[in-house]
Amino acid sequence: MVELKTVIEETYLKVKNIDDKGELASYIPELSNVDFNKFGVHISTIDNFNFGIGDCYDKFSIQSIAKVLSLTLAYSLLGEQIWERLGIEPSGTSFNSLVQLESDKGIPRNPFVNSGAIVISDILLSNLENPKEDFLSFVRGISGNSGLKYSSKISSSEKAVGYRNTALCNLIKSFGNIENEPSDVLDFYFDLCSLEMNCKDLSELFLFLANNGYKSGGNGSILTKSQSKRINALMQTCGFYDESGEFAFKVGLPGKSGVGGGIIAIHPNKYTIAVWSPKLNEKGNSCKGMRFLEEFTTKTELSIF
Ligand code: GLU
Repeated sequence: MVELKTVIEETYLKVKNIDDKGELASYIPELSNVDFNKFGVHISTIDNFNFGIGDCYDKFSIQSIAKVLSLTLAYSLLGEQIWERLGIEPSGTSFNSLVQLESDKGIPRNPFVNSGAIVISDILLSNLENPKEDFLSFVRGISGNSGLKYSSKISSSEKAVGYRNTALCNLIKSFGNIENEPSDVLDFYFDLCSLEMNCKDLSELFLFLANNGYKSGGNGSILTKSQSKRINALMQTCGFYDESGEFAFKVGLPGKSGVGGGIIAIHPNKYTIAVWSPKLNEKGNSCKGMRFLEEFTTKTELSIF
């Protein structure tokens, strides 16, 4: 695995010095207090090679990356019936758009736009005894890191200005596709998005999606093989906002980004790689994160295509 290490080191140094024209996600006030020079990368392979560089041990707000984890829990609890409540198509609109919900009668296009993640939050609220605690235990259980936490600073900062997510939740509720009180659903959703991790935590945690739904080390199935394949398929088609096509074109891996500047990408049966750099392009994806992954899969020729 010397080669992977060398490619990561060389690519990291090259991308670190690019002129990053991106901007921080200031619509959540607390996210604009992050040091925009941070840049970390961590890879974990299914045959146990782990390597990180830069700020890979600094925690950050994973934001929408958590939507993959809430989907995983809902899918593992309820199976295919979740697709009665939401779709599996790319939206072609921004992640927080209200437009399609009206014509789609409150059925979100997919689980990774905000409306879809809000419906998944509602499903979890209806099916878990202590939703916030149970979800956190689920995530800690997969990662083996009992120190993973929500950030109350981030969640209250988002809650204070979460008018658009409130509008989304109320609109879906008006179509009968939210069972619980919107304020409770949103409270759970904002906490979910506030989860903090570093690149090492992220790449290790997501290994189950490179490993056919099994926890790393092979013991403990989190999803069936088919469910794991389907979540990877959704990440490939819907994981990068309205830039999922471009990510597939340039990087060629399923993955998910968040407005905290993190990206997790997965090569099924091989590896996971997490990248964090807070400045975002106009579509909401980390500029350096995308650039790093494009160079990485090009140099290693390790993409799924
Ligand atoms: N909490 C963010 C929101 O709802 C998540 C957005 C993201 O990372 O895509 O706006």
